[in-house]
Amino acid sequence: MTNTPEYRMAKTAKLMIDILPDKCDFCGCCVGVCPEDAIELKEAEIFIIDERCTNCSKCVWSCPIEVIKFNKEGVVKR
Ligand code: SF4
Ligand code: SF4
Repeated sequence: MTNTPEYRMAKTAKLMIDILPDKCDFCGCCVGVCPEDAIELKEAEIFIIDERCTNCSKCVWSCPIEVIKFNKEGVVKR
């Protein structure tokens, strides 16, 4: 599974999501759903580790206050 061409492409694709850090309330929902452990939450800081992210979008749909969004490279804008 992890050696499929699609997976490799996803791993090297440009990051398609953004977190608006000034809006985040650091609830941790997105951290819990990320299958790649690609979201780091430290006190009042949150960021995505680009090289781990596969652009799966689970974090986007998990955020209760909609502060994770697809950027213009992505396909969905919430
Ligand atoms: S898009 Fe998927 S892999 Fe990337 S940070 Fe969100 S949940 Fe994790
Ligand atoms: S789910 Fe949304 S509000 Fe909660 S930590 Fe993640 S980005 Fe912040």
